[in-house]
Amino acid sequence: MIIDFQTAVKLIKKGDVVAFPTETVYGLGADANNIMAIKRTYELKGRPSDNPLIVHVSSISQAEDITRNLPDSFYKLAESFWPGPLTLIVEKDPSVPDIVTGGLSTVAVRMPNHPLALKLITQTGPLTAPSANKSGKPSPTKPEHLLQDYDDSLPILDGGNTTIGLESTILDLTSKKPEILRPGAISHVELSEALGEEILPFQEKKNHDSKPVKSPGTKYTHYKPDAEVKWIKKIPKSLENNALYVVYSQNEWPDVKNLISYKGNFSILAKDLYDIFRRADHLQYEKIYIEELPVLHEDTIIPALINRISKACTE
Ligand code: AMP
Ligand code: MG
Repeated sequence: MIIDFQTAVKLIKKGDVVAFPTETVYGLGADANNIMAIKRTYELKGRPSDNPLIVHVSSISQAEDITRNLPDSFYKLAESFWPGPLTLIVEKDPSVPDIVTGGLSTVAVRMPNHPLALKLITQTGPLTAPSANKSGKPSPTKPEHLLQDYDDSLPILDGGNTTIGLESTILDLTSKKPEILRPGAISHVELSEALGEEILPFQEKKNHDSKPVKSPGTKYTHYKPDAEVKWIKKIPKSLENNALYVVYSQNEWPDVKNLISYKGNFSILAKDLYDIFRRADHLQYEKIYIEELPVLHEDTIIPALINRISKACTE
């Protein structure tokens, strides 16, 4: 159900869960101090309870309230990239309920770059907000996606389509060297430059790794449509009718309804990706073939795209 801004504020204050827009994807917002509301968030999403939530703030002082021992790097990065698609992992203040962090002593904090989100959080205080998809499904990037996933009782603050379309970059500031736990629109290169020190790039964890996973959510399959997603090196001359093809290279492509061409525009592909996944299911395609992306572009959104698409390819 689409609701107006004042209703969203009222509902959150009384402990309800409200879907709201950010620049990355839609979030499922709840008062970060309200344990019952946060429980409801996990239930609504069907999310495992060891997968912690990102707390969204609208000011540095709100971030200071929920954390402690903030390092200089936090202030440097917040100044450079907030509001924006960067989540910082720092020490949590003991007042933050354990259910927010899945029992971890750290908390993930982000200031979203969306006027409605910032106005909302200014009036409600910090909000826990996981991506608003049902667990395992592609994140919602437009209100229609929420209407597909939930019944009409979910209150939705409508902010149109999200502009980035992939979840935030997560950077851990509690390890010896800052480390990217999830790639997003803010790249490894931008972060290293702003910080003036080396940071560890994102490293895909393999299932047989014995090291504990630092970002619990990354061990779950995400972003999966029902259609089978596959990387493809070369697009064949004759296309399969039951497959949707997503290509980026600048070739002359046939003008057919099951081929979408991005002509090297990776930001637009990122913005559209989850909608493509959902549309493919709606149109009952059995497969989605995605042209293999060039890997050597650390300074762009490509690592994030490769990460999300690869996860969608997993069994
Ligand atoms: P989502 O809200 O769906 O974008 O997922 C949030 C992501 O943030 C998940 O992958 C979580 O594992 C990760 N996350 C949240 N809190 C922490 C934390 N304290 N330490 C490491 N990762 C976290
Ligand atoms: Mg998510």
